[in-house]
Amino acid sequence: MRAFDGKKIVLASHNKGKLIEISALLAPFGIEVVSAGDLGFDEPEETESTFAGNARIKAHYAAQKSGLPALSDDSGIMVDALDGDPGVYTADWAETPNGRDYPMAMKKVWDLLEAKNAAEPRLAQFCCTLCLAWPDGHDEVFEGKVGGRLVWPMRGDLGFGFDPIFVPLGYDITFAEMDVAKKQAMSHRADAFAKFVNGPFKDLKK
Ligand code: IMP
Repeated sequence: MRAFDGKKIVLASHNKGKLIEISALLAPFGIEVVSAGDLGFDEPEETESTFAGNARIKAHYAAQKSGLPALSDDSGIMVDALDGDPGVYTADWAETPNGRDYPMAMKKVWDLLEAKNAAEPRLAQFCCTLCLAWPDGHDEVFEGKVGGRLVWPMRGDLGFGFDPIFVPLGYDITFAEMDVAKKQAMSHRADAFAKFVNGPFKDLKK
């Protein structure tokens, strides 16, 4: 496992929700964080069919363009009764000609479950893959997950994406109703980040 020994890292994401969450996770390490958007980079096409494949595309693209180590996040929600959909295509399910519409995407998921008369609880996992890539082409990949059930109607206005219909196992509130710090401590992103911190960041002091 290669150690991170720089002072600056590029966050290879244009997703505001992810940028907020990952910046907060990185904050204690005292590293300068810049986003791909701040550097004026466009978004590479996500052509792979796995979270790891797409995370690699995003991290390598930003590392090559910036000459700095770059950290990407590819994530999504896998719904058991939909055979793992929307999965890697979670953001695509929200696409409209006028940008992403998550309430529409969540309704689509719920309507499919209703049409199938899917059994309760309607189980799902949020998955997150983080990739740290260096400009010389090396990378390290970390995967995280959190299990839960889907509920309807949507509840809460914190977080982002599919948070308003996801209730993590053992809880009665959705991620969008949960204190941000609490979501940060138990989410799929936190799970992947914990592995990342024990890898390339192992020798860094908080
Ligand atoms: P991508 O990784 O850019 O392809 O997009 C992943 C999509 O999954 C996001 O746009 C969100 O809709 C969803 N997603 C990923 N992580 C979370 C989360 O923590 N909460 C809610 N939705 C998420």
